[in-house]
Amino acid sequence: MKLTDENKELWFLTGAQTLYGEEALRQVDLHSKHVVDALNAASSVPCTIRYCGTVKSTEEIEGKFQEANSSAQCVGVILWMHTFSPAKMWIRGLKLLNKPILHLHTQFYREIPWDQIDMDFMNLNQSAHGDREFGHIMTRLRKPRKVVTGFWEDADVQERVAVWTRACLAWDDLKRLRVIRFGDQMNDVSVTDGDRVSAEETLGFRVEYCPVGELCQTTNQVSEADVDDLMAQYHEAYDFAPNCDTGGAQSEQVRHAARLELGVRRTLAQWNGLAFTTNFDDLYGLNQLPGLAAQRLMYDGYGFGAEGDWKTAALVRAMKVMSDGLPGGTSFLEDYVYHFSGAGAILQAHMLEVCPSIAESKPRMEVHPLGIGGKADPARLVFTARPASGVAATIVDLGNRFRMIVNEVDCIRPPAELPKLPVARAFWTPRPDLKTSATSWILAGGTHHTSFSSAITRECLEDFAEIAQIELAIIDSDTTVSSFKRELRCNEAFYN
Ligand code: MN
Repeated sequence: MKLTDENKELWFLTGAQTLYGEEALRQVDLHSKHVVDALNAASSVPCTIRYCGTVKSTEEIEGKFQEANSSAQCVGVILWMHTFSPAKMWIRGLKLLNKPILHLHTQFYREIPWDQIDMDFMNLNQSAHGDREFGHIMTRLRKPRKVVTGFWEDADVQERVAVWTRACLAWDDLKRLRVIRFGDQMNDVSVTDGDRVSAEETLGFRVEYCPVGELCQTTNQVSEADVDDLMAQYHEAYDFAPNCDTGGAQSEQVRHAARLELGVRRTLAQWNGLAFTTNFDDLYGLNQLPGLAAQRLMYDGYGFGAEGDWKTAALVRAMKVMSDGLPGGTSFLEDYVYHFSGAGAILQAHMLEVCPSIAESKPRMEVHPLGIGGKADPARLVFTARPASGVAATIVDLGNRFRMIVNEVDCIRPPAELPKLPVARAFWTPRPDLKTSATSWILAGGTHHTSFSSAITRECLEDFAEIAQIELAIIDSDTTVSSFKRELRCNEAFYN
């Protein structure tokens, strides 16, 4: 399933000037088309790039950027100076442009033609010169952007454009996202809450409240025939514990879970929501915690956060969009239990809600008591995450700003079976090591909830944070606690 509209596009504009005559401009135009065609042919870039021509004046630039701002299709602009382009003419346009910017610092020819190079060639092919002039004005205007340097035909350059495109698509999606809260936040929990007005102002998504009673009513209206159909899909997709199989003692609980999944889907459709939260302590009238629903909806690309965690729900959705079509999985997870032996690792799980996109093998349908919440035993899919490197990310509200924290992690196979653990789980060693990572994460005020993905890398989240203009703190192989503390202190000053 594709999570974004097929008609989304990037706009590509080339800067030039009239100083070198008509023939030079014709060349610039031809070369630009060639570069755009090559990027479009690169399978890594997940949306169409539209060439919007060569711009040579303040008025032209302002006009194009006004169009870009009001275009629902345009998710970002790529800018390149083929010749020298005096950058004052970009000021008016850049000041009003509100779409993500990628500055492609490339050159039409890979190499210098030693035998033939003359003054005309130098004037035409002077991105080294023009892009510096352009970079200066963007820095002076404090424009957030990504600069990609290198030859446009090279796979690494195309890949960096592709990664940024994924961040643009997620940003575009987030601005229209509605996160639906079924019930309220878990009482007294700090990190899962925050300022919803600031979130909408800064990150674009809306957070709305749907009374559990409404979900309950919609669930009760689901027909037996629809439950039968969904049960058939479950049997096709998953293994079943014997007591959950048809006729088993807990098979009725699986049917309740199926009914609840349809109730959640229908309620979200009515509310136009693509992300949601639940709270195990706020389930009035429901048979069980809709954990299986959360697992299966995440698999379809919905965002999810438990205990009312609307920030993580939005981030899971954003990372689902970023990773759309890529191998690997993306899931809500929670730091649970440490393993201090060896390099150190963390068992990741939740009460129920882990996305099967990260599963190593076919998930198994099981029903067990939950122990909290006072409802009937909930169904859930149990599995272990496949080994992969990935990123664990969170967004926290620091009162005056949002901070994104990203940790590179290596998901590994647990060293033993976990025969008594009735929930899906992942097991990972965070980089650079458990002690440095956990110390840094805690100093940064990070959540116990994260959005994990083995489909994207930290670069996509860096691009996203740049576009959203939120603080980013990365914990990776190079992190030391003292350098990380220094970085947090600098950020504290920067954002005050
Ligand atoms: Mn939790």
